Amino acid sequence: MSKETAPAVPAANFIKNIVEADLAAGKHAQRRWAGQPGTAADHAGAPLDAAKIRTRFPPEPNGYLHFGHAKSILLNFGLAEQYGGRCHLRFDDTNPEKEEQEYVDSIIDAVKWLGCSWEKEGEKNLYYASNYFDWMVEFAEYLIEAGHAYVDSQSADEMRANRGTLKEPGKDSPFRNRSAAESMDLFKRMQQGEFPDGAHILRAKIDMASPNINLRDPAIYRIRHATHHNTGDKWCVYPMYTFAHPIEDALENITHSICTLEFEDQRPFYDWLLERLAEGGKLQRPLPQQIEFSRLNLTYVVLSKRKLIQLVDEKHVDGWDDPRMPTLVGARRRGYTPEGFRLFAERIGVSKHDSLIDYVTFEDCFREVLNESAERRVAVLDPLKLIITNYPEGQSEEAFAPNHPLKPELGKRAMPFSRELWIEAEDFMEEPSKGFHRLYPGNMARLKYGYIVKCTGCEKDASGKVTAVLCEYLPETKSGTPGADSVKVKGNLHWVSVAHGYTAEVRLYDRLFAVPAPGARREGDAPELERDYLDDINPNSKQVITARLEPSLKDAQAEDCFQFERHGYFVADRVDSQAGAPVFNRTVTLKDSWAAKPAK
Ligand code: ATP
Ligand code: MG
Repeated sequence: MSKETAPAVPAANFIKNIVEADLAAGKHAQRRWAGQPGTAADHAGAPLDAAKIRTRFPPEPNGYLHFGHAKSILLNFGLAEQYGGRCHLRFDDTNPEKEEQEYVDSIIDAVKWLGCSWEKEGEKNLYYASNYFDWMVEFAEYLIEAGHAYVDSQSADEMRANRGTLKEPGKDSPFRNRSAAESMDLFKRMQQGEFPDGAHILRAKIDMASPNINLRDPAIYRIRHATHHNTGDKWCVYPMYTFAHPIEDALENITHSICTLEFEDQRPFYDWLLERLAEGGKLQRPLPQQIEFSRLNLTYVVLSKRKLIQLVDEKHVDGWDDPRMPTLVGARRRGYTPEGFRLFAERIGVSKHDSLIDYVTFEDCFREVLNESAERRVAVLDPLKLIITNYPEGQSEEAFAPNHPLKPELGKRAMPFSRELWIEAEDFMEEPSKGFHRLYPGNMARLKYGYIVKCTGCEKDASGKVTAVLCEYLPETKSGTPGADSVKVKGNLHWVSVAHGYTAEVRLYDRLFAVPAPGARREGDAPELERDYLDDINPNSKQVITARLEPSLKDAQAEDCFQFERHGYFVADRVDSQAGAPVFNRTVTLKDSWAAKPAK
């Protein structure tokens, strides 16, 4: 199947306006770039930065990426692509305890899979924040010398008690006026491993009475005796995220540092810190600008890392790449395509307002993309045998079906037609309900791409269950022949030849949660009732069936996507398919079947 690369997200949004205004003003035009991250001194003698802007996607490698990350990835890489810039992939791996190589690898795969590249014009902008620890310590020591930081030796409880509240100012630590020399001595000894975790902490010296609690002397470096996946046992002090992140951005010449709204209150500290370091000559100007946007929230989906871990650990799903998981590895197995994610990102846009996107909006993007790209095939998911009693035994012929109704250039394929066919069980009713136009005794219907047949009856087992439908075909009515229209019928059925069909496992996936807001209280709930999102898991989110598929599907390659006529879009599973024996996952049905369902 061709993998068209859709255009980048045309970032028609407020961030684009900021970028365009900056470009028009030449705000970043004088920045220099040493070819790799560095301090003001490192960049000073280097050429002007060829990148008009620099953005970054900075995941912490402590889990698998999810749909929300896709929004952030497409936004950051899309902006860089649109404005002649670069987007860095940076592993924010400053926390020694939680990070693993497995996550690093899967993040790299997922970003590539989405069609984004951090390599451009000889630059390989793949970075690890832990490689900046030397600079971070140097900058912390500079802040101490300049009187902007001090070592606090209060206990964690005392610090908490003295932080104040939203209404009340905090109280100065008794160690706040320690001399720079004393703080420096302690910070050096913290680095040498002289003290246990928590004994001292390095804090920025700003204002304990600030109305913004984040400016009340935030912690910037802490003692942590832990082995780091990259730096091993070199360090026993680690920077706090709020200290590390702005520095990472500045060292990498990031112009627009885009993050989610919960960091809005951190922006004053982001700016304070970078200003202090720039005035001390440590960082190049102009400094990066932090810009916040609202994170993606979807109905029927949980995106919290903690909950995703729980779903996997407690085996509510079959792993991180379970096609029902909102992870990008799951999406890939589900058959959700990068093109669909791009369309979705474009459609939902970027704003500062918290919003909840309807899952149907998400699914519709994949329906739209797959309707264009997926070839059509025939699959019978709930097989019932149809016997054409006047068709010779042992005989077969070819019926021709278009591969794509909107793209005749994709041609037709031959499907074998024979005396015994599989049809969908629901296409026969011994006693038809009103408006039923398919097969019932005495009625005629078309076998799509084949002949018109007239139902003559059925066979049943001892329990009365229908085991085969009987019919006769009208030899002059084959599709594509002059007689095809000589008889008018209303029903049009798909079928697979019993002797030729490919029998395969098909997984029918549906939403993992049965309600729009898993775990949230619902109207009419008793005041004391607490809901657990796990109770809202949809018990029917995965159904495994044995289906009868047209023979050509036996040759499907992993990740080939098809529309199974009347049923929806399906993908050959990339994990469980064997050569010549693909299994299929349902990506999405043709129409949303949930709209009509009342929320429980
Ligand atoms: P946690 O903070 O719990 O580790 P996280 O989802 O924020 O989880 P990060 O690795 O820090 O994980 O995220 C990397 C980037 O993805 C960040 O810039 C973050 O803002 C962005 N991001 C995370 N979740 C969403 C979301 N739901 N919508 C949009 N962007 C998101
Ligand atoms: Mg985060």
